[in-house]
Amino acid sequence: MKITLLGTGSPLVDPNRAGPSTMVQAGEATLLIDAGRGVQLRLVGAGVIPSMLSAVLLTHLHSDHITDLNDMITMYWVMSQEKGTLSIFGPPGTQQVVDGALAMLGPDIGYRVAHHEVLKNGPQVEVTEVAPGDEVEIGGCTILVGKTNHAPVEPTVGYRISDGAHSVVLGGDGIPCNTLDELVAGADAYVQTAMRDDMVLSIPNPMFHDVLDYHSTVVQAAQTAAKGNVGTLILTHYVPAPPVGDELEWAAAVSDHFDGKLVVGPDLTAVELS
Ligand SMILES: [Zn+2]
Ligand SMILES: [Zn+2]
Repeated sequence: MKITLLGTGSPLVDPNRAGPSTMVQAGEATLLIDAGRGVQLRLVGAGVIPSMLSAVLLTHLHSDHITDLNDMITMYWVMSQEKGTLSIFGPPGTQQVVDGALAMLGPDIGYRVAHHEVLKNGPQVEVTEVAPGDEVEIGGCTILVGKTNHAPVEPTVGYRISDGAHSVVLGGDGIPCNTLDELVAGADAYVQTAMRDDMVLSIPNPMFHDVLDYHSTVVQAAQTAAKGNVGTLILTHYVPAPPVGDELEWAAAVSDHFDGKLVVGPDLTAVELS
């Protein structure tokens, strides 16, 4: 099982970090979790073209996690030459988002269908709205859906992906909660959005302080990982994003709370579980 941090940035534009998205390659599956800004640049940077994806899994519908979902839909359609159906899983509301994206792409779809003989129908997208407790089988992997707490954003979910040999939990955004603990328990790896509350508080803008109540701090992520006895804690979607190269210093607080392996880094940081 290989986990690649495609985009590690915060919601704010950063020339060196794409928006939140992570790729998990396991069994026969290539799974994209969230589709933030610039996701396809990083996907191709990781050696995967969009039409190779088995499915897209959305943790929630905050704009920073779906910014480039429309681009994913277009490129999957065009690069598969209409042979494939893009599977998108996400919480309730995902169908509405995809319908809206397809409506926005309407003129473009018309141009391409009119221009290319091979394209006749437009993007084929299959949306599955998931709920906590659901299990999905893709490419030899079992994907368990769990409830997360990113209130007031609802509904939000995390995913536990198992290939029989290894398991990884994608916690998405959110704060510690019992259902996240259940999802994380005993996983080999745990990918979590992480925030430095001290840095956020130092920003003299009250609007930034609003993010404090619905993201795990680095310490909380470490505590969740320790409670779940996970082997590897992978931090991503850094809020606020540190300069590339400063991630380890940024995450120094982890070692007081978690004694497993810690992974932080720039976009395209990859972890192989073996
Ligand atoms: Zn969010
Ligand atoms: Zn986010």
